[in-house]
Amino acid sequence: MNKPQENFSLVLVVVMFLTMGLAAQAHPDWTTPFPPHHVIGNIYYVGSQGLASYLITTSQGNILINSSLESSVPMIRESIEKLGFQFSDTKILLISHAHWDHCAGSALVKELTGAKYYVMDGDVDVVDSGGKTDFQYGGDGNNHYKPTKVDRVLHDGDEVRLGDIVLVAHLTPGHTKGTTTWTMKANDGGKMLDIVSVGRPNVNRGYKLVNNELYPQIAHDYERMFAVLKSLPCDVFLGAHGDYYGLLAKYAKLGHGTNPFIDPDGYKSYVAEREQAFREELKKQSGQKQ
Ligand SMILES: [Zn+2]
Repeated sequence: MNKPQENFSLVLVVVMFLTMGLAAQAHPDWTTPFPPHHVIGNIYYVGSQGLASYLITTSQGNILINSSLESSVPMIRESIEKLGFQFSDTKILLISHAHWDHCAGSALVKELTGAKYYVMDGDVDVVDSGGKTDFQYGGDGNNHYKPTKVDRVLHDGDEVRLGDIVLVAHLTPGHTKGTTTWTMKANDGGKMLDIVSVGRPNVNRGYKLVNNELYPQIAHDYERMFAVLKSLPCDVFLGAHGDYYGLLAKYAKLGHGTNPFIDPDGYKSYVAEREQAFREELKKQSGQKQ
């Protein structure tokens, strides 16, 4: 028989697994708070160290990109309030793609704020099923989340308008069928800059690029995604995880001279590096020589 103290430890461990999920355990930075900060124009960072969420403020309320984990929602709320905004002013909720680390908190954000949830068509059924129809992770209960109703289905090139802000949804599929790269303009001291928030260009471990029965056009979609990313004008490079664009290093430079988030070269080299990684993986899986 277990001693009461051992029982207590067991309960603690179970609670930790339930609240954070196994995947989050493997990524402690996902649940590590990060200082909320102004990025540029009307864009603010309100995510954790490892999971990026952005608040875009407008005269008619705010837009939130990425609800992240369910346990991230109170942190996002706190970050928004620390910046002097109201969580309840969140009118529209968007995501980078339908993986639990970016969308598991969406049901809770909707419930707490009444925000409308806009999702790219390829990801709608996944969000609606709580992750159960994901081609790669659908069978893994650790990656499931509360099924969430989508209020508007987005298609490639659709605009999301609120107040004086216009975001454009670019379908950049492969990582998920509806992975979305968001672009918008931001005013930086009178200069209009192009902002790109990259969805996710990675080929995850275990992804089948060849003969994938559940996603036959996956390799073709990755090709399409890289073509789109290379075509987008970019001054300010953002993404669904801060490590895409070197969040920690750039944040440390904030307030010292030029805005560190203005990084067109960093964007180009990131996309080129990710494309090369995709091509190498595709060659490997196709059985071709390097
Ligand atoms: Zn993902």
